[in-house]
Amino acid sequence: MEFIDLKAQYHALKEEIDAGISRVVEDAGFIMGKQVAEFEEKLAAYVGAKYAVGCSSGTDALQLIYMAHGIGSGDAVFCPDMTFVASVEPAYMLGAEPVFCDIDPDSYNICPDSLERQIKAVTAQGKLRPKAVVAVDFIGNPADYDRLREITDRYGLLLIEDAAQGMGASYHGRKCGALGDIGATSFFPSKPLGCYGDGGAVFTDSEEMNDLLKSLRVHGKGSSKYDNVRVGMNARLDTIQAAVMLPKLRRLDEEIARRQEIAGRYDEALKDKFVIPHICDGTVSSYAQYALLAGDRKRRDEVRAKLQEAGIPTIIYYPNPMHCMKVFAGCFTGEETFENTVSYADRTFSIPFSAYLTGEDQERIIDVLLSV
Ligand SMILES: *Cc1c(COP(=O)(O)O)cnc(C)c1O
Repeated sequence: MEFIDLKAQYHALKEEIDAGISRVVEDAGFIMGKQVAEFEEKLAAYVGAKYAVGCSSGTDALQLIYMAHGIGSGDAVFCPDMTFVASVEPAYMLGAEPVFCDIDPDSYNICPDSLERQIKAVTAQGKLRPKAVVAVDFIGNPADYDRLREITDRYGLLLIEDAAQGMGASYHGRKCGALGDIGATSFFPSKPLGCYGDGGAVFTDSEEMNDLLKSLRVHGKGSSKYDNVRVGMNARLDTIQAAVMLPKLRRLDEEIARRQEIAGRYDEALKDKFVIPHICDGTVSSYAQYALLAGDRKRRDEVRAKLQEAGIPTIIYYPNPMHCMKVFAGCFTGEETFENTVSYADRTFSIPFSAYLTGEDQERIIDVLLSV
């Protein structure tokens, strides 16, 4: 059984995807071909942002955002303790310091109270300048943007949305990706909107920012590629990837609806035995992952072993809180104990999930989980 059935999705969309790839190859428009602009326009409209800037990965999307805002030495970037390293890795590389915040025990997203404690602790310490908050739509669940916005406004911080896992999700009727001052997403193949390699995008409503990002993604170009006005990157989105995603984007809302049905079936069957995902009122999750919590680490590991015996793959998103990672040793942690993050990391496991999960496979997974 597949953990995420990318092959089933390909077979459902094969004709359109194959034709799209062929067209790029026939036209030989591999770099910045017309499908890139078409995809950017459709993606921006889908998300509800004025501009989408396609780029080479979610990590590079975040790096472009940090570079465009001049984030670097002496800046504190606040980030949930439970996320993928790329949420803050580029900021750290640019010289800024990540300051981790505990997660909410129900939504698993950044806890606004912990965020506020960390902002105050950084300010009291006086070494770093509070600069930006990265809100991650963790495993597809939108963060608490109303409260985060209130805090970032109060402290004058930039609100960055890391919607790498949140494409297709929404918060009070607004799509993830366009919920912060600026947003990033990833098209890594297993994400809710995935391509056939690496890819990503930045979302902004500002024309000036759009121009700056487009310069940064091509070596800091000025009026042309060979007129360089700033230090930039080679961070373009491949035309083939844009062509692969055009038909996938057309199908995204349909897939998100399917994901709700499949998650609902898991919820109903498993709610008495595990902690099921908590989706806040007024929000729709993209269910980038369907994560359950077991009672404790030992029970979690037993359940995973049983599933593995039955040929059912599971993955832990993620086994290590950020503040425990060697790469971040020595970063400011304040007084936080990160107890919710630690508990989550000990207890979580994700089970096979996609819009193409068959009823039979789902029943088999549920049977094994209930028999443990
Ligand atoms: C996947 C992911 C990224 C990075 O995306 P890549 O395309 O793999 O570089 C960043 N943040 C989060 C939360 C992610 O899940």
